[in-house]
Amino acid sequence: MHLIVAEKNISAHRIAQILAGGQKVAEKKDVGVSTYSFGDTTTVGLRGHVVEVDFEPGYENWRSETYTPRSLIDAKTIKVPTEKRIVALLQKLARHADRVTIATDFDTEGELIGKEAYELVRAVNRNVKVDRARFSAITPQEIKTAFANTTDLDFALASAGEARQSIDLMWGASLTRFISLAARRGGNNILSVGRVQSPTLSMIVDREKEIEKFVPEKYWQLGLLTEKASEQIEARHTNGRFKDQKIAELARDRTKEPLVVTEIKEGTKQDRSPSPFDTTTYIVAAARLGFSAANAMRIAEELYMNGYISYPRTDNTVYPASLDLNGVLATIRNSPFKKEVEWTIAHRRPEPTRGKKSSTDHPPIHPTGVATKEGIGDDAFRIYELVLLRFLATLAPDALWQTLKINFDAGGEPYTTTGGRLIEPGWHVVYPFSEAKETILPTFITGEKLPIRKVSLDEKETMPPARYTQSKLIQRMEELGLGTKSTRHEVIAKLVSRKYVEGNPLRPTLVGRVVTEALEHNADAITKPDMTQTIESHMQQIKESKRTRDDVIKESRSMLHAAFDQLEANERVIGDDIRDRTAEELNLGHCPVCGGTLAIKHLRGSTQFIGCSRYPECTFNIGLPVTQWGWAVRTDDICEKHHLHFVRLVRKGARPWDIGCPLCHHITSNAESLTEIPSMNEALLEKARSKHIYTVAEIAHSEPERLEKALLLAPDAAQKLKTEAEGVLEKLRRRSECRKFMRNHLIPRKGRSYSKIIAALKESGVSDLSDLAKANPVTLEKAGIGETEARDLLFEARVTYNGQVLKEIGIPAVSLKKYIAAGINDPAEFVTTTPENLSKKTGMSIGTVNRHVALVCEYLHRPAPVKIPRARIEKGRKELLSVKGLTESVAEKFANAGVISGDELLAADSKQLSAASGIDAEKIRNYQTLLKKKRETAVIQI
Ligand SMILES: [Zn+2]
Ligand SMILES: [Zn+2]
Repeated sequence: MHLIVAEKNISAHRIAQILAGGQKVAEKKDVGVSTYSFGDTTTVGLRGHVVEVDFEPGYENWRSETYTPRSLIDAKTIKVPTEKRIVALLQKLARHADRVTIATDFDTEGELIGKEAYELVRAVNRNVKVDRARFSAITPQEIKTAFANTTDLDFALASAGEARQSIDLMWGASLTRFISLAARRGGNNILSVGRVQSPTLSMIVDREKEIEKFVPEKYWQLGLLTEKASEQIEARHTNGRFKDQKIAELARDRTKEPLVVTEIKEGTKQDRSPSPFDTTTYIVAAARLGFSAANAMRIAEELYMNGYISYPRTDNTVYPASLDLNGVLATIRNSPFKKEVEWTIAHRRPEPTRGKKSSTDHPPIHPTGVATKEGIGDDAFRIYELVLLRFLATLAPDALWQTLKINFDAGGEPYTTTGGRLIEPGWHVVYPFSEAKETILPTFITGEKLPIRKVSLDEKETMPPARYTQSKLIQRMEELGLGTKSTRHEVIAKLVSRKYVEGNPLRPTLVGRVVTEALEHNADAITKPDMTQTIESHMQQIKESKRTRDDVIKESRSMLHAAFDQLEANERVIGDDIRDRTAEELNLGHCPVCGGTLAIKHLRGSTQFIGCSRYPECTFNIGLPVTQWGWAVRTDDICEKHHLHFVRLVRKGARPWDIGCPLCHHITSNAESLTEIPSMNEALLEKARSKHIYTVAEIAHSEPERLEKALLLAPDAAQKLKTEAEGVLEKLRRRSECRKFMRNHLIPRKGRSYSKIIAALKESGVSDLSDLAKANPVTLEKAGIGETEARDLLFEARVTYNGQVLKEIGIPAVSLKKYIAAGINDPAEFVTTTPENLSKKTGMSIGTVNRHVALVCEYLHRPAPVKIPRARIEKGRKELLSVKGLTESVAEKFANAGVISGDELLAADSKQLSAASGIDAEKIRNYQTLLKKKRETAVIQI
């Protein structure tokens, strides 16, 4: 069998389809992983890396005395499977293979993924022939050529990838641990440091500092408005920016009519067609269309795997001679851009444009297949269009502009204006993504005199440098040699997810800044690009087999040891510095009650809230949703009324939840429940808020004296308010308990909203568990709960609610469990079932059961059953059982109905007893007759 290993499932599928030619491809799922077979060939897709490099066991404990952060530098590493099912399947297939072809992506990362697969194959099949297919696009032509010309795996290239992996692990893990431990951070809050990440963050921080340091300078711009052929034309003073206001004003005052045309300069300007896309220029162009770097790369990769475009990770901006440009044009002639393709063929420039970088790995990004909007969706199609039209633009002729510059004189002051007309649109015809704006001027004649309609002097300010956008940052990283075409966008995404930077353009957060500065002050090698550049050049040397992986890793270790020498010497200073400065990021402003500092507090587990720095003297606090809803952070916005920072809940992969001013939020979210207190009114509410009483709980838990003073109430009114608040609080507690119950018992379903169901139930008067336990199934169905579900829910509600009642009555939890297990969960059953039966069903002693029954009866205001001596019960039972046909089960039913002896049976009304016991009245009368006869006979015998 010939086994082909692709980088992803989707590429495995396409490769199989292409190589199968006309044959049918059979898809088979094994342990959830697909394989594609035709003839004697099977393809299987990996999921990128299926193994990961990690430290050997022993280094898991961050706080270990022996395995310090520094010890990670020299720690041995092992490869651990991360995709166990794929690894198992790959090895299962490899055992029976007589040829294995590695068909992963063609670059360092792909070669390493290929080598990982190679090692997994070798581990189970030592002698199988393993070769490598390399291609830049998953198109029939490329794939067929690649498989007809397979080579060997490039172990040098893979080694470079391995070295990078090990170095990144060693840097990231040791430094992250060191900094996090120094700052006493753990769990969700660790401070990550990385080889590429930290210098990149440092660039963003530096830019922010430049912006802060920037002192704007005023300048003045002078312009005028003239008119020709009823067209208004603007002209600028040739001085450009005036730094001196007086001089500018003087020039303005001297500007007098007539405006004389002094010179007309005509010319032409070549507008060169753009060069082919490499990864960076592609990301920049996609950013103009609104795609983030990570998104642009994700979509491009999908298009590549489906055969629509070539491999999108490339540094090349020159089409290689081997690329069949005519073939590409012929293919995309069938795309929705037929018109543009044909125009390009008709106007094609002799040689395609070329950029500055030429490399041998992949061609520049270009289209390879035909896609439609219906087939791939809007976003993917916009990217496809961008790549396709860019390809056409690189084959299209240059554009030509006619330029015009007119110089004027007004009272001795020189003015000028320029115009441009596109006389040969060239590549602009097919590439609309780069704007070609024409400014068309009327015809002027030298010496011509014109009117001045307006003279304007504008005061302006110089602007600070702009923050980095994601695409600008990627360009800058490339210039500095930080990261690779494959990793740059991932590094930025990492900085965002670690809350080191935010927004677009990118701004550092306080933590991002503090960590960067702490590193800069104490071990600046980590934040400077130099060391990373050195390592990148070492990678290159490994690829060219000039150095070995081990040698490079060894050198990197010594660089890192040098950094640790500095760091460890300053551990205390670094830790204190980070802690002191980051505490600030949680402070929201002054406590409204005592003037202390309000801050976001995160407790162990998922609890977070806003509390006062003067706790326990000041107990003011504001509750926040648990961290599952998002980690609370402050934002830069400040409430105008309360002067507190806004709070936002941030969650990975979700839109942030903006709480806004926490106090405003606190007030609104408690307003409704406060108005449920009967004696609460608008005026009282205002007064309460002015005294910083915002919740029902605060009123319920206040001493009446405090309420008297704070709200200027009479003692009895204060007491009444407190009592009412306690009632509302209890009601609120029960409501929330009911909500929780529903959430725990109703299975989440698409389109179902708990809040809608709860609102509908409330409407029908069901707002707590006791209502629910007594509710009619129809009410539940009306609220949108299915029939079976409603029945189950009611049953659960009864069990839960009655359990609560019984507990309240004083039945100990252990006994309660036994009752519920015996199916007794309603207080009423304690009265309708005899203690004997209860005892029998639960296995508890009759004495215990009697105590419980007495408690329940007292609660239900019913007389407790009279305790009957055991001997009497036994005697009565014996007599009843002696009646012919009266079985044990009948006796039990009678007992439950209060009939435990012959006397009682004879005294009973047959109809009533029948109703209470469920035994047919006719039968009862029959028992009574038999018993009477039996007694009479007994008397005679005596
Ligand atoms: Zn306070
Ligand atoms: Zn507010």
